Amino acid sequence: MPIPTNSTKKHIALLPGDGIGGEVLDAAVQVLRALPGIDFRFEEYPCGAGEYLRSGNPLPEPTMQACRSVDAILLGAMGLPDVRWPDGREMAPQLDLREQLELFAGVRPVRVFHPSHSPLRTPRIDYVLVRESTEGLFSTRLRPRDRTATSVRDELLVTRAGSERLFHFCFRLARTRRRKLTLIDKANVLPSMAFFREIFYEVAQQYPDVEAGHVYVDAAALYMVQSPERFDVLVTENLFGDILSDLSAGTVGGMGLAPSADIGEKHAVFQPAHGSAPDIAGRGVANPVATILSAAMMLEWFGQPECDSGAARIRAAVETVLANPENATPDLGGRLSTRELTDRILDVL
Ligand code: NAD
Repeated sequence: MPIPTNSTKKHIALLPGDGIGGEVLDAAVQVLRALPGIDFRFEEYPCGAGEYLRSGNPLPEPTMQACRSVDAILLGAMGLPDVRWPDGREMAPQLDLREQLELFAGVRPVRVFHPSHSPLRTPRIDYVLVRESTEGLFSTRLRPRDRTATSVRDELLVTRAGSERLFHFCFRLARTRRRKLTLIDKANVLPSMAFFREIFYEVAQQYPDVEAGHVYVDAAALYMVQSPERFDVLVTENLFGDILSDLSAGTVGGMGLAPSADIGEKHAVFQPAHGSAPDIAGRGVANPVATILSAAMMLEWFGQPECDSGAARIRAAVETVLANPENATPDLGGRLSTRELTDRILDVL
């Protein structure tokens, strides 16, 4: 939960990162600056694969210190496919941030704004996928790799404490929506997932007003395409959530419409679910909506009336603009630039 303050001054760390990160972050900052009643102080900090090439550290200590002291962090995107550690892994400071700030809940709303955006041509997609973000199959990602080894093992970590806090968060989230929470697991095969499910149903007993259910991860992928209207809030482990969040974004129009929030007990990072999109970086055509909606999630997380009304205004403006399918960047089949789509949202605001 955010630490409550009476002030509507908000100190925000901006981490543009790599590729299109800075382009979409600029759009979100313009939208935030257009809101009345909130006094934002934005400060930009270096981070990302580009920063590694400059300084040798993708997440410099001053950036990390700033992230611990601000009210919230707005992030663009991190990583470039060709910039790697000697063991072959990519730089992923966004994952380091999640782990160091204990941002255990990766909240990814999935919603259709216009049926023409969805390859499923349906308006009936409106759920939230929560990805556990500090454990799971990412838990040994920093373990050094022996490049001469003939077998390599990764571990799927599930802890009782980590799972309980995650499930409590998700049940409380479900209470703000249609009161249905579905666990996505692989409890039929993996012992760690059987443990995950046991804890889920233990926690569920404290929320009798929320319908709790489960589905295997393979079936979840099927239902996301075939009958997404069955879902309200979904929760899963780290790698399953990583994969399914791109799949779910694909059903509503792609990564440019996929906001996210990484929430912990004390800190939170708000960022689009997409990466640095090197294929379109620097061309001014990235869809800014995911980042703008992530900024709205940040305002809601502050939990203050001015911020709530700012978030509502942003959402209403995005809805109004996207209701016209001509208001679209190329990823949505349109011709608008990042700047033009942002201007249309600002006009409505
Ligand atoms: P990506 O999300 O960057 O791109 C996937 C596809 O979606 C591309 O076709 C891209 O053009 C499109 N896309 C993404 N965002 C878009 C937007 N706002 N508007 C229009 N189209 C958009 O994933 P990738 O290509 O697999 O990864 C590129 C780099 O980003 C890699 O280095 C990867 O490690 C990194 N990455 C970072 C994050 C993060 O910072 N949170 C997340 C995922 C990937």
